[in-house]
Amino acid sequence: MLNLNEIYKSCSLCPRNCNVDRTIGSEGDCGMDEKIKISYYGPHFGEEPELVGRNGSGTIFFSGCNLLCDFCQNSEISHFKSGNYYSVEELSGIILGLQEIGCTNINLVSPTHFSVSIVNAILMAKQEGLHIPVVYNSSGYEKKETLKMMEEVIDIYMPDLKFTNALITIGNKKINASKEFCNAEDYFEFASGAIIEMYRQKGDLVVRNGIAKRGLLIRHLIMPNMMANSREIIDFVAENIGVNTYLNLMDQYRPEYKAKNYDIINRRASNAEIQTSIDYAKSRGFTRPDWLYS
Ligand code: SF4
Repeated sequence: MLNLNEIYKSCSLCPRNCNVDRTIGSEGDCGMDEKIKISYYGPHFGEEPELVGRNGSGTIFFSGCNLLCDFCQNSEISHFKSGNYYSVEELSGIILGLQEIGCTNINLVSPTHFSVSIVNAILMAKQEGLHIPVVYNSSGYEKKETLKMMEEVIDIYMPDLKFTNALITIGNKKINASKEFCNAEDYFEFASGAIIEMYRQKGDLVVRNGIAKRGLLIRHLIMPNMMANSREIIDFVAENIGVNTYLNLMDQYRPEYKAKNYDIINRRASNAEIQTSIDYAKSRGFTRPDWLYS
């Protein structure tokens, strides 16, 4: 078991490096002290088919977030921190309960800021018979040190890769997208390093009988007016991870939360924009997931 007190006492679990003492109730940029807060848990059928299987992905949505995008699609959970508090023992019980009802995996959504508690809960659950894959479903804004701590307990990494350092044009200015929308100018520096580390740990996604067992699954949300960014993401993955990687180009962006404050992202991506990105990924040789690139 990891010593929670030591790590949460001066928290530097993510690139924000707040160094606040979460054990005395202080909150860093993620908005959470050391108490585990969960907004929702249960079977979820809205993930990739390889994660859903027959009985759904056993999803646990953690309250708060260490990235906090202005266009967040789940702001009630991330920015407004809805949820209830649980102990490490209770989290372990939730994990085992999701396995008990037949979930295909345990899907930890926005886990980064509770990663120490999560390691301990999973270790506890493994002693009680946890055997289904555990998925680390994050924004990608991660430190390698934290991922190394997760290596023993995680089977599948499912990071977003949202932005490169591509500049976007707002008015007559050129602006770094991750700085503008997430107050994280160093997003790509950390997310790109994190994805390389995730791949080193787990390799390409292994799917047996239609169910993901282990490996890396990268998600990129196609956003309006940001084709150059999507193109650079596809190039980065092709050149640094490889075209056998499972790269899901997602089309469900909708302007939520503060997106209305930015003209360029205040609409859905058009069908043409979505198809352009998929076609480009195909032209680079991506074939996984086959339902996207066929
Ligand atoms: S996990 Fe939260 S408190 Fe810790 S460094 Fe990141 S944002 Fe700050």
